[in-house]
Amino acid sequence: STLFLILILLGDVFILYRESNERYVRSYQNSIRDPLTRLYNRSYFYDTLTQRLSKASASQPLSVIVCDLDRFKRINDTYGHLQGDKVLQFVANLLMDSVRPQDIAARIGGEEFVLMLANTPSDAARQVAERIRLNLSSFDKASSEGQLPEPITISMGVFTTTSPNITAEECVESADKAMYEAKETGRNRVVVFQ
Ligand code: GH3
Ligand code: MG
Ligand code: MG
Repeated sequence: STLFLILILLGDVFILYRESNERYVRSYQNSIRDPLTRLYNRSYFYDTLTQRLSKASASQPLSVIVCDLDRFKRINDTYGHLQGDKVLQFVANLLMDSVRPQDIAARIGGEEFVLMLANTPSDAARQVAERIRLNLSSFDKASSEGQLPEPITISMGVFTTTSPNITAEECVESADKAMYEAKETGRNRVVVFQ
């Protein structure tokens, strides 16, 4: 019966350990993800980009794509903020499904997203952006099951580095510049930083 008691105690210790580990995993995930979209948050994105930049080289290029929804304010004004949130969730899921496990998709602002593509040269990054842009623009209210009240478009800026001597902020700033050029030249397009 002593052995029996010890087994029961060991079982309890195991259950307690598992519960506290699950709590830890949940709170860690909450600290690195955006609550609305479950994409990675801004600070996790910058931390990871900084780490990966230190290994960038000609044979290991790193690409950053900044994405901003087109005329999103009008969506909120026309259909309300809750519908606007659904649009953000739809776009976030599409972005998440468009990248590989070694990449990062994050929400860095209200309706601004960013992708970090590992080992990806400029032309391949442009192709990924173009595929996402086309894919998003192909949905309407019916095919998005009401998540999009009307077709939505996105403007994207691509920046690629082969040098580790650049900061995460500088990468995002350059991709952002390209994204603004996409806005200025008509929206719903991809521009590569030159
Ligand atoms: P542009 O094509 O130039 O990007 O136009 P825009 O209307 O998308 O740009 P603007 O920056 O003027 O508007 C962004 C809007 O995004 C403003 C704000 O109401 C909305 N927004 C930001 N965060 C959220 C959010 O969490 N939920 C919702 N529903 N809307 C948000
Ligand atoms: Mg914006
Ligand atoms: Mg916008």
